[in-house]
Amino acid sequence: MLNRRNFLKTGAAALPFAAAVESLHASEARSAETIAEQAAPGVTSKLLPLPPRLARLDPTTLSWQQKIHRVGQSNMTEHDPAVMNIEEWADYWHRAGAEIVFVSVTGILAFYPSKVKFHRQGKFLNGRDFFGECVAAAKKRGMRVVARMSPDLNWGDALEAYPEWAMRYTNGSVQFNEEEPRLFRTCMFTRYMDDYIPAIMREINSLYDVDCFYCNGWPPIGRLPDCFCAICSKLPRPNTAAYWKIFNDRVLELWHKYDAIAKEKKQDSFFFANLGGNLRCGPNLDRLAKTAVWFQADNQGRTYDDPAVWGCSMQGRVCSAVMDGKFAANVTAAYSTGAVRWRNGSKNPAEATMWLSEALASGMALYWHFIGSEAGLGEDRRWQKTGSDYFHWAAKHDAHLKPRRSLANVGVVMGQSTQLLYPGPKAAHSEHYMRETTHGMYETLLRGRAAFDFVHEDRLEPERLRQYRALLLPSIAMLSDKQCDQIRDYVHSGGSIMASFETSLYDENLKPRSEFGLADLLGISKAGDVVGTNGNAYYGRIERSHPILDGFVNTNWLPGAQNRVPLKPVRDAVLTVVPGFVQYPPELAYPPVPHTDQPAVVLGEIGSSRIAYFPGDIERTFWLTGHGDLLRLLHNTIRWITRDESIIEVAGEGFVELFAWETIPGYAVHLLNYTNPNAHHCWLDSAHPLGAQVVRMRLSEGVKIERVELLRAEQNVPFKVEGDVLSFTIPRIDDYEVAAITVG
Ligand SMILES: [Zn+2]
Repeated sequence: MLNRRNFLKTGAAALPFAAAVESLHASEARSAETIAEQAAPGVTSKLLPLPPRLARLDPTTLSWQQKIHRVGQSNMTEHDPAVMNIEEWADYWHRAGAEIVFVSVTGILAFYPSKVKFHRQGKFLNGRDFFGECVAAAKKRGMRVVARMSPDLNWGDALEAYPEWAMRYTNGSVQFNEEEPRLFRTCMFTRYMDDYIPAIMREINSLYDVDCFYCNGWPPIGRLPDCFCAICSKLPRPNTAAYWKIFNDRVLELWHKYDAIAKEKKQDSFFFANLGGNLRCGPNLDRLAKTAVWFQADNQGRTYDDPAVWGCSMQGRVCSAVMDGKFAANVTAAYSTGAVRWRNGSKNPAEATMWLSEALASGMALYWHFIGSEAGLGEDRRWQKTGSDYFHWAAKHDAHLKPRRSLANVGVVMGQSTQLLYPGPKAAHSEHYMRETTHGMYETLLRGRAAFDFVHEDRLEPERLRQYRALLLPSIAMLSDKQCDQIRDYVHSGGSIMASFETSLYDENLKPRSEFGLADLLGISKAGDVVGTNGNAYYGRIERSHPILDGFVNTNWLPGAQNRVPLKPVRDAVLTVVPGFVQYPPELAYPPVPHTDQPAVVLGEIGSSRIAYFPGDIERTFWLTGHGDLLRLLHNTIRWITRDESIIEVAGEGFVELFAWETIPGYAVHLLNYTNPNAHHCWLDSAHPLGAQVVRMRLSEGVKIERVELLRAEQNVPFKVEGDVLSFTIPRIDDYEVAAITVG
């Protein structure tokens, strides 16, 4: 039941942006149908028609990997050759419905009688061709095989022969693996990567029929290498823009080299490597995704740094932003992830299942992963059923679960360079500054039930941006002149933007600008350096009424943010800054300066475009505090800049993540139910079901609806088409539901 009390308590916008404010005035609970009636076009929001449907897909244009839906991996240990039953292993994955399995070649330990020097054979191998036997067992059952390598570590004898292969600390000492110090860390700039890895690949190609090659452990995820070997010492300082360029050049050089070796045997073979880290991926994803045909999202579960439940679907949005319909799979850990690990034991089924659902909802293939068959087929078998049940269910609905394109009408600029290189303002003292910013923006959009995509900063071409009514720039500090021009062009062609804090205050090399790169567009001018918080954070004083302030009553001021950029005065400000002041002792907790002419938000209009800029790091501050005023202010502002236009409305209770896709049969609306005490921390233990959700979409001309089917409930539901607006009700959601819409 939605009422003011539980809205404020949970901070959950149970309705789209468009209807959320309206709902606050309701003193009594209303049915979802009533809510949908009140959210009718012209009353609170404007439903935009869906784009004309894409031309029929010619399946012969798809590569083999684009037809993969389910990936299996029992990650092999040194002991597995002694204890793993290969038939049982292959049977499990085959019966589960995996179309491809990973089999370890490795590079740290050979799982076959390798002749490559320093490719040490595991101590339980005893000359046996374990890799070859696994490949044969998989192939016999019609499963494809990925040859899995790991180029990141090697042993002392290799180090002795080739000391230049090692990563080194500033004092010149070798970087060893922290858990197993007999292994040293190899440097990606050395010949190790040019000679050793290609030798293994060619040996595999000469002996076996594998479908493609994969490297684990490289490139680094979510960070850049920190090496001071003879080669790296001559490179620019780590974690600088200049270093990142050279790092990207080297990643691409090796990727192309390995891909060419993969193709020496079969033209449709390829190479891929480990990616992930959400927006903080190591390699530049615009560049890499032009080459990669398989995005291996190594985002296996929640971590201490990324504790929110949506970590997998966020990764899916990153993949969608760069892969242009090529293949992406999210490696889902059946075992425990997080601060304390048990990699050979099953995790909570509710958590693992949600992660799989997020992969599907966000457009990635399913990928189920356990470490070691000794444990996985022996000590703890509980993970098997969780995975195979899910695979079996999904296999029944493959056609509806494969997206063709996103229907989102809001774009969020990813700012990958800002994510990797910008440290945040000195006043913030947070090494996770941009991670916190991203989560704040993400949760804001989830709570507004927005249909949104990520947009890579190097992909701001007009043809990509055309789909979006608004572009959001949450503290995207680093933007080149060209990127600023592209955003300007976007606004001048009718798009709206919302930006915050240091957006455009640095160029692509992290060189500070004296004035915002987007100063003209945002209508702002910098008046000083970033001001942090010491005591009470600043407030925004309400100067006049405006739609972005809808729903705020009985107050003259609103919370600002933890940090802000001081601005020169603007005309007719809606909010002005009340500077922060002492919070303790309470005797001094009052504003010595109660009123300034510094704007706390700047709003503008250019033609049909609307522009909003917050000088504070408002999204991150929302993440740190959960303050409902900040959420409301952001929601109101997004409503205002989009002119209440939406592409889909899903009205009902609960905290859900929404995806809307065009599919081959029609459309698919995915709803992930995060209404759970463990949404922000730890694992899910059970689902907390939601009641009715009313879905509305405006059809494009000539589209006829045949059927609306709920894939998790496995039932058809009645639908209405009034005028060109399709509406139907999902009566209940447990943890996840997909409304699959078939067009005639
Ligand atoms: Zn190095």
